[in-house]
Amino acid sequence: MKKCIKYQAPFEETTNNGRNKSYCSVACRRSTELEIRRINDRIAGLEKVSESYRMNILVLELYGSEESVNAELNRQEIRLKELLSVMTD
Ligand SMILES: [Zn+2]
Repeated sequence: MKKCIKYQAPFEETTNNGRNKSYCSVACRRSTELEIRRINDRIAGLEKVSESYRMNILVLELYGSEESVNAELNRQEIRLKELLSVMTD
């Protein structure tokens, strides 16, 4: 007796052109394919979360805090306005 990879239920193994079957039924095979797709989506989502954590850490190391980022943004906007104001011909 073999165990179905989906729900671990034991099933009678019938060889499928030399390949060992891992599922007890077509439904379990389809269900496993869906599970793989869901896991892939979940991994992609977690990779994005992990990436944004890394980015947040980098930003914090560079600027210290959200207030510092906003202060720097403010300085740059003022400088930009200053530069744009002298370029009006
Ligand atoms: Zn099954």
